[in-house]
Amino acid sequence: MTSQIIDDLILPNNWRKRLPRPMDYYPGELKALRQTYPGGIEGHCPFCEDRHRALKVDLRGTRGHWCCFACDRMGDIVDFHHLKTGLSYELAALSLMEMR
Ligand SMILES: [Zn+2]
Repeated sequence: MTSQIIDDLILPNNWRKRLPRPMDYYPGELKALRQTYPGGIEGHCPFCEDRHRALKVDLRGTRGHWCCFACDRMGDIVDFHHLKTGLSYELAALSLMEMR
């Protein structure tokens, strides 16, 4: 894929509805996962040296909001995938759509 093509990528209008469900995505991405409350999980943050399950994720709903109490990073499922993969936000969204 050339940079020209990447620049021309436009997310479809319904892209948020085409993302994987948070409950299907995060369990494969986090280590030392455990449930904290119904619909909530925590695990090791992949973005810092956390070893205390500082990263909390809300699996309820569609956004998949998360935050890390060690490094203060936070966001939704696209922010997480964007940080984890190094892809641009838009490409991270497209990559997630392909996982569904
Ligand atoms: Zn962290």
